[in-house]
Amino acid sequence: MSEKIIKSDEEWKKFLTDEQFYVTRKKGTERPFSGEYYKLDEDGIYKCICCGNPLFKSDSKFDSGCGWPSYTEPISKEAVVYEEDRTHGMIRTEVRCGKCDAHLGHVFDDGPGPDSARFCINSVSLNFDKK
Ligand code: FE
Repeated sequence: MSEKIIKSDEEWKKFLTDEQFYVTRKKGTERPFSGEYYKLDEDGIYKCICCGNPLFKSDSKFDSGCGWPSYTEPISKEAVVYEEDRTHGMIRTEVRCGKCDAHLGHVFDDGPGPDSARFCINSVSLNFDKK
């Protein structure tokens, strides 16, 4: 796997909007049903807003009704990393960019695919590359 990208908060702030910074670097969450990619249904690749790492294919996107873009799987095993998240009185699995550790969202086990995964991802942590 390639080298991790490590930057200070000040460096990230130079090119991220306040909301992008808050979500990706401070584990924030965008308001449900508000994100620009929630309803997007076009062919392409969703990349990390912080470092450009390809994360999800549009093929794996589905409408979960949860209010955030949802995917059945990442583009590759190495694309994302996982961490146990015990905040807000729940035990969840946080999903982060495998390259720069940006907070992306969480993964749940009630998805429609063969692995039953539902990657629930903040739009603001993504950048869509149309095919
Ligand atoms: Fe990244």
